[in-house]
Amino acid sequence: MKLYSIETGNFMLDGGALFGVVPKTMWQKKYPANEQNLCNLAMRSLLICSCDRTILIDAGMGNTMPEALRKYYYPNGSDTLIDSLASHGFLPDDITDVVLTHLHFDHCGGAITKLPDNTCECTFKNASIIVSEDQWDAALNPNVRERPSFLKDNIETIAASDNLQLVDEDIELIPGVVLRLFDGHTAGQIIPYIQCHDKTLVYTADLIPTAAHIPLSYVCGYDIYPLLTIQETEAFLREAEENNMTLFFEHDIQVECCSLHETEKGIALHESFSLEKFISSE
Ligand SMILES: [Zn+2]
Repeated sequence: MKLYSIETGNFMLDGGALFGVVPKTMWQKKYPANEQNLCNLAMRSLLICSCDRTILIDAGMGNTMPEALRKYYYPNGSDTLIDSLASHGFLPDDITDVVLTHLHFDHCGGAITKLPDNTCECTFKNASIIVSEDQWDAALNPNVRERPSFLKDNIETIAASDNLQLVDEDIELIPGVVLRLFDGHTAGQIIPYIQCHDKTLVYTADLIPTAAHIPLSYVCGYDIYPLLTIQETEAFLREAEENNMTLFFEHDIQVECCSLHETEKGIALHESFSLEKFISSE
């Protein structure tokens, strides 16, 4: 199995929304914000190559967001999904599976391409698009809180494709890649667990968006069920620490991967490192 970190660009979110009820005096020590209180976040995908499958986990924001909305999210950085794939020698048509952890715009937008005539198509024509059934229902019938995150072009283009594959329980996608479902951030968020030799890498998506979100009270203001997020995160961190799993962060602009250890204040970041280091320490 081969793993590649795929940077797709950055965007900004309000730090207060990102860290929920935690006061800025506390969270700003863990994650920097600019003078407008905005935190810059990566949109980091993961590419998994195993035998005849080339699996992309999440796809960044892409180009489907209407201009009127883009100004609130400050897309920045020179990386793009297509260029990052190309830098590792992959073309869009090489991708066999796109796992979308959920359908918020910063996770699924790159799987859809808006053409110059304003119509949209799937970016990866040969790929199954894997989404959980609960997330698909949430996107089709959004609640008021989440509605702005499900962009019409993204959802309608996926709905019109023949490649959507819904999962309704934890599954082993291929040997060594298990998809598990979590509900605190949004209904049916997929968290991929990747077995690489004798070690496990977990793509934490919006369950733990950045390393600063490891302490249990640092729950995102966007989560639909914050108390459930705490329960899920506590069980997740316990299992991850006990089994020496490595966390891979989609949104942390500084920290790509980390290990965990138990402290008197609970489970905490032990060491941070790059995916390359994780791979080379096999
Ligand atoms: Zn999200």
